[in-house]
Amino acid sequence: MTRLIKYGNVQVGNGNLITVQSMTNTKTYDVKSTVEQILKLEEDGCDIIRVAVPEEKSSDALKEIKKEINIPLIADIHFDYKLAIESIKAGISKIRLNPGNIGSDWKVKEVLKAAKEYNIPIRVGANSGSLDKRFENDTIEMAMVNSALYQVRLLEKNEFDKIVISMKSSDVRKTYLSNKIISEKIDYPLHLGVTEAGVYEDSIISSSAGIGALLLNNIGDTIWISISGDPVNEVIAAKKLLTTLGLKKGIKVISCPTCARTEINIEDLTNKVKSITKKFEKLDKNITIAVMGCVVNGPGEAKHADIAIAGSKTTAAIFKKGKLIENVKKENIEEKLSKIIEDYIEVI
Ligand code: SF4
Repeated sequence: MTRLIKYGNVQVGNGNLITVQSMTNTKTYDVKSTVEQILKLEEDGCDIIRVAVPEEKSSDALKEIKKEINIPLIADIHFDYKLAIESIKAGISKIRLNPGNIGSDWKVKEVLKAAKEYNIPIRVGANSGSLDKRFENDTIEMAMVNSALYQVRLLEKNEFDKIVISMKSSDVRKTYLSNKIISEKIDYPLHLGVTEAGVYEDSIISSSAGIGALLLNNIGDTIWISISGDPVNEVIAAKKLLTTLGLKKGIKVISCPTCARTEINIEDLTNKVKSITKKFEKLDKNITIAVMGCVVNGPGEAKHADIAIAGSKTTAAIFKKGKLIENVKKENIEEKLSKIIEDYIEVI
C-alpha cells in the first residue's frame, strides 16, 4: 500500500480511489480560456488538473485561476526555480518538477523550503526521453527507475517526503516495467501515464495497455491518459478505463462482436444505448448493459448484465438480470429501452 499524499482536498494513495488527471492546452496566462477549459474538464470528471508554467506571466495567473476552479491545481515547472516558488506562493496544490533540471543544490533547497512552508507535495519522475546521464549504462527501464530514485533521495536528503513519482515512456512495455520495478522499492504514490501516446485511438490503445496492466497489478494511484488534442477526451477515456477495470463506478455498455446469426444492427443500437445512458455518466453505481445480436446465444452470453437486449428479425427481447421482461417491436426499441434503463437506475 502506498502512503497517503494530499493534493488540496483530494487524497491520493493509501487505497484511495484512483484519481483522473488532465492537463490544459490553453495558454496558462490566458486566465479566461484556462478557467473555461478546467471547468469543462471538472464537469466531465477530472479530479486534478495540471497547467504548464513556462514563464512569469503564467505563474502570475495561477492565483486567479485557482480562485475560479474547484479541483486541485498542479503547476508544471521546468528549469526555473523562481517560477516554482512563485507558483507555490500562488496557492497551487502540487508542483511537478525535476530537481535535476532546477540547477544548483541551493535552488532546489529554496523550492523545497517553499513547498514545506505551503505544505504541498512534489511530483518527481523520469521520462524515457530525458534520462539522467549518470545511468546511461543501465537498461532504459532501470535508467528510468534509477533517475526517479535519485530525485527521490535528493528530496529525502532535504527532509522532504511529500513525494509522488511518475515514470513515463512512449513505449508501453518500458512504462509498465519501470513502474512495476519502482513499486517494489518505495511506497510513494505513483502517477501513471504513457507519454507521447498520440492521437485518440493510438493513445487509447497504448494507455489502456500500459496503465491498465499496472492497475490490474494494484500499481498506481492516479492516472493521465495523454491524447493529442482536446483534453476532455483524456478525462472521458481515463474514466472509462477505470470503470472497465472495476475501479470506478459507472455504466458499462457491452455488445456482441456480431456474426452470421446477427439479426439487428448492433453497432447502431449500441451507440443508441450509449447515448441513452450519457446523462447518467456521473452515476455512482455499477451497471452493465449488454446489446446482443440474436436470441440464440445473446441471452445466455449476457446473463450477467443488469439489462440486456437481444435482437431477432422483427423484435428485440429485453432482459433484466437474465430474466425476459418484454419483447418489443424493432421500431420501439429505443423508446422502450430508454424507459427500462431509466426505471432500473431509479430503483437500484
Ligand atoms: Fe453472433 Fe448472437 Fe453471439 Fe452476437 S450474440 S456474436 S449474433 S451468436
